[in-house]
Amino acid sequence: MQLDNLFSALKLDHLAAQCDAILEQAAKKDLGYREVLTEALACEWAGRKQRGTESRLSQARLPWIKTLEQFDLAFQPSIDRKVIRDLSSLSFVGRAENVVLLGPPGVGKTHPAIALAIKAAEAGNRILFLTLEQLMTKLSRARQENRLERQLQQLTYPKLLVLDEIGYLPLSRDEASLFFRLVARRYEKASMILTSNKSYVDWGEIFGDTVLATAILDRLLHHATTINIKGESYRLKEKRKAGLLNEPEVPAEETANQG
Ligand code: ADP
Ligand code: MG
Repeated sequence: MQLDNLFSALKLDHLAAQCDAILEQAAKKDLGYREVLTEALACEWAGRKQRGTESRLSQARLPWIKTLEQFDLAFQPSIDRKVIRDLSSLSFVGRAENVVLLGPPGVGKTHPAIALAIKAAEAGNRILFLTLEQLMTKLSRARQENRLERQLQQLTYPKLLVLDEIGYLPLSRDEASLFFRLVARRYEKASMILTSNKSYVDWGEIFGDTVLATAILDRLLHHATTINIKGESYRLKEKRKAGLLNEPEVPAEETANQG
């Protein structure tokens, strides 16, 4: 059998593409057979890994791509570096734990959520990003079309589900109970990262029902890391730097705490 035929029969696409270059390098560096074989298989392995990550990212519906390296921790002293380091090890995904990022608009909640999701995808995990509104549309439609059970099941497949923007829109009781069913499904099975502009005490209002909100929080927070982000909007800071806005007025209480 010809080498090219073997490549295609074994589906070694990456190696097929790189074979000549690898052999040329091997000759230059005078590599032994074992080393050449290692180089060849490593090339195929890296290519497959890359393709897997790309495919997981393309299915993830991320609204934009930003990494943890692009997140300036110095700008947000309220975020504990140790916690971020710990989360970026992805052990929370392995343990099916949740992460909740709380804080006002623009402080940097979606950015770290996306960055952690990308890391999880690179590590081989299926990921999915939805705003709460998109999730509700999906679930409500599925119920109308009599396929709610299947939809809920599908939403348990991603190892990490990012639910963005909890709290901007209040949910009806019906929607809140759909949300509860999803949370209960994923509980202790797969991780979620949630972002919200509302603190937990206000979640009763979002879900329109304190009993449901309590049941939701109970499961979400049983194994969870909460990151409370305070401070100024990064978006506004950029504008201010560009001279488009005035300096913020610092409330007296905050000034006192800064010393
Ligand atoms: P939120 O979700 O809290 O409203 P985002 O995460 O969308 O805020 O952040 C708003 C914008 O500012 C994004 O473009 C994000 O990349 C950027 N940003 C926010 N915080 C930081 C930071 N600490 N370092 C770098 N970029 C940041
Ligand atoms: Mg956001």
